[in-house]
Amino acid sequence: HDPEEVARMCYTPLGNTGMELSSVGFGASPLGNPYTAEAPSDAEGQACVLKALKSGINYIDTAPWYGQGKSEEKLGKILEDIPRSSYYIGTKVGRYEKDVEGMFDFSAERVTRSVDESLSRLGLRCVDIIQVHDVEFAENIEIILNETLPALQKIKEAGKARFIGITGYPIGTLREIVERSTVKIDSVLSYCHLDLNDSSLLDHIAFFEQKGIGVISASPLSMALLTSFGPPDWHPASDEVKASCRNAAQYCQDHGVDIAKLAIHFSFSQAKVATVLVGMDRPSFLERNLDVVHNKLSETEEKVLQEIQKEFFPPGVSRTWEGVEVA
Ligand code: NAD
Repeated sequence: HDPEEVARMCYTPLGNTGMELSSVGFGASPLGNPYTAEAPSDAEGQACVLKALKSGINYIDTAPWYGQGKSEEKLGKILEDIPRSSYYIGTKVGRYEKDVEGMFDFSAERVTRSVDESLSRLGLRCVDIIQVHDVEFAENIEIILNETLPALQKIKEAGKARFIGITGYPIGTLREIVERSTVKIDSVLSYCHLDLNDSSLLDHIAFFEQKGIGVISASPLSMALLTSFGPPDWHPASDEVKASCRNAAQYCQDHGVDIAKLAIHFSFSQAKVATVLVGMDRPSFLERNLDVVHNKLSETEEKVLQEIQKEFFPPGVSRTWEGVEVA
């Protein structure tokens, strides 16, 4: 870590874990699953991770699902010579291959095997957080409660993970699992709900806080909806939601402003969560995102932000979606 950069970064406790996470978290999904047709090179990916750590980012999020092991494998190589004490890392279980039966498998047997596979790809003996990936896709919640979480408890007892988390899109499902689980849940990861177009996570933070559970928010760009290049084909948002984001992006462009910058600023200025995970597979994204978190917006950008909120994302309109992202 660069001490000057670290001094500019904010660190917030993640629930009762004792870990303090950097406000910007490193989302490693695009290392395995790029959003754009032209995939970043391995050198670019490596430069991003190393620069992120130097800049005081201390949390990395990955999963076996991201590029079917590629994200974890790349991280394993990149982190090989980095002291283990200089970062926290979370991975996941439950979501694996594309478009096949067994894409989701929350059984105790598969989950247990998955953790060993992840540790081997990452070249680590222990991850900081092991999370159930996208709980809403289990055939029912009972399997998460009766098989997956107890299996993760054993993994924790075996010293292969320090904390247990759950991730998913519908916040109601995350809450139900938290209410009913007999296994202690340390963190929840919610995505696309602390964004310019949908900030519904704000209504649920007190619930998780009261239970001592740390909250991680992901995808401040709403999985590329809030970028000038737009979302990938598999994006599950409705045509209506996609259209309002596209129109907002065009409005920004017409005013010489980058919508991604406004979206990053919006998510980060909501605070309240331990970390916001941004996918950063290019050094230029990392630089731009750190710049806006540290230096905020110009007057013109503030003005355009207010205009697009009023025009394209008025309050009281639900912009959540149903469906599964498949990339
Ligand atoms: P995102 O909204 O953070 O970003 C989308 C993509 O936009 C990025 O991957 C990157 O390619 C690009 N980008 C980043 N900064 C940019 C900038 N300044 N300008 C233009 N483009 C920029 O979405 P994401 O990457 O899907 O989410 C962040 C991370 O959160 C993921 O990498 C993953 O680690 C995690 N995540 C987890 C879950 C889950 O567990 N269920 C779900 C979603 C995301």
